[in-house]
Amino acid sequence: MVRRACLIQRKRKKRPKLPANREVEITSDSCPSCKGSRIIRVGKKKHVKLAYDLKFTAGGIRRQVIRYTALRYRCEDCHLEFLPDRYKRRDKHLHGLKSWTVYQQIVHRVSIRQLEAMFEDCFGLTVSRWELMDIKAVMGERYRKTCNHILARLVKSGLLHIDETHSNLKKDKGYAWVVASLADVLYMYRPNREAVFLHELLREFKGVMVSDFYSGYDSLPCEHQKCLIHLIRDFNNDLKSNPYDEELKALAAEFGKLLRSIVSTIDKYWLNKYNLHKHKAEVHRFFRAIEPNVYHSDLAEGYQRRLLKNEGRLFTFFGSRWGAMEQQSR
Ligand SMILES: [Zn+2]
Repeated sequence: MVRRACLIQRKRKKRPKLPANREVEITSDSCPSCKGSRIIRVGKKKHVKLAYDLKFTAGGIRRQVIRYTALRYRCEDCHLEFLPDRYKRRDKHLHGLKSWTVYQQIVHRVSIRQLEAMFEDCFGLTVSRWELMDIKAVMGERYRKTCNHILARLVKSGLLHIDETHSNLKKDKGYAWVVASLADVLYMYRPNREAVFLHELLREFKGVMVSDFYSGYDSLPCEHQKCLIHLIRDFNNDLKSNPYDEELKALAAEFGKLLRSIVSTIDKYWLNKYNLHKHKAEVHRFFRAIEPNVYHSDLAEGYQRRLLKNEGRLFTFFGSRWGAMEQQSR
C-alpha cells in the first residue's frame, strides 16, 4: 500500500527543475572541419545542458547538478557554424552516477527497476530504466580494457583457479565463469557451459590450473590440479546420504587416510618438494590397490573411475614448480 501510494504521488507530482550546483562554460578554440583557429562566436543564445552526477564524500553521497553552457561559433575560413564538440558529446550522466549504478547492480544485486526508484527516492533524480540499461552498456565498454589487463596478468601467472556456475535468467540459463590467481579475479558471462572458449582465452597460460572435476577443463594444454576440496565435499555428501554403502565408506576411508598423511606433511613442511616427494610411493600404492577392485555399489564404482581417471591430476602440487609459485604469489 505504502509503495503504491509513493508511486502514485511520484507520478502526480511534477517536480520543479533541480537547482544546479555549478555552471561550466564549454568553449572551443578551433574549427572541427578545417582545424583553423580563426573562429568567432555568433549570436547571444546560450545553449544549456544539464548533467547529473553523484559526489562521494566522507559524510555520504550527494547529488550534483551541473549546468553546461556553450555558444555557437563560426569559422572564418570555411564558414562552418558549430557548437563545441565537447559540449555535443557531454553525457547527461557523469562518471560518479554511472559508477554508483553499476556498483548497486553488481555488489548489491539491485534490479534496474529498483534502481530507478532508488534514484528518485534518495536523490530526487529521474533516471529512466532505458538510461540505466544504457549506463550498464557504456560502463561495460569503458572497462573492457581493464578486463583485458586483468586477463593478461592472469595468463602470465603460474597458478589459476577456475570455476563456473549457472544462474537463471528471465527466459534461459546463463553461466558465470570465474578465473582467479592469488592477486586477480575475472568474472565472465557465457550463454552456456561449453569450455571451448578457454582454449583461446588461456592459450598462453603455462602454469597449473586448479579446477573441479568438470571434464570441460581436461583438454586445456596445461598442468592440472583437481580441487581436493570439491572431491572431499562430494565424498562427504554421498556418505551422508548413503550411510549403509560399505564399499563407498571403505574407499573414502582409504582416500582419507592418504590425504591426512599428506596434509600433515604440508602442515609441518609447507609445500616442500623434498618432503612431499616421499608421498609419491604412497599415492602410487593407493591407486594400484583400488584399481582391481570390483564394486557392487554404483557410487563406489563411480568414485573409483573418477579417482583413476584423475590419477595424474590430484597431486600435481607434489611438483617443485607448484610450491615455488604458491610461495611467490603469497
Ligand atoms: Zn573551418
